[in-house]
Amino acid sequence: MRRWGLSIPSDCVLCSGNAEFREHLFFGCGVSFAVWGNFMFRASLTPPLLFMDCLTWVLSPSRDPNISLIIKLVFQASIYFLWKERNRRLHDHASRSSTAIIKEIKVILTAKLDPLSRRSEFDAPDNSLLSTWFRYFN
Ligand SMILES: [Zn+2]
Repeated sequence: MRRWGLSIPSDCVLCSGNAEFREHLFFGCGVSFAVWGNFMFRASLTPPLLFMDCLTWVLSPSRDPNISLIIKLVFQASIYFLWKERNRRLHDHASRSSTAIIKEIKVILTAKLDPLSRRSEFDAPDNSLLSTWFRYFN
């Protein structure tokens, strides 16, 4: 956006410690790592650290289809809420902690997975998306 002539700070507004670029903002920043890493740590997963590698990895991150779908949703939610937090800090001069962002992602994901779990009526209750979510990620 700076190349387009927009007047925005060059430093990361999440940590103020590094230049803002895609790799840092979504994976290298301490705030981002706390959010994305929280879910990966809980599921004992170690995704690639580079954005493009992670895009490939997220296509098939696990042999368990429930875990794979949940990781895709967590990935999308993390990117969305980190970008939203970045814009909140940049434009509204307000901020939230990584803990608050994680909590919001958990609420959104639980709300998304609940109806998806109810639709898979053939899955055993202990193998539903929601039970996988609570077992590994929440
Ligand atoms: Zn940062």
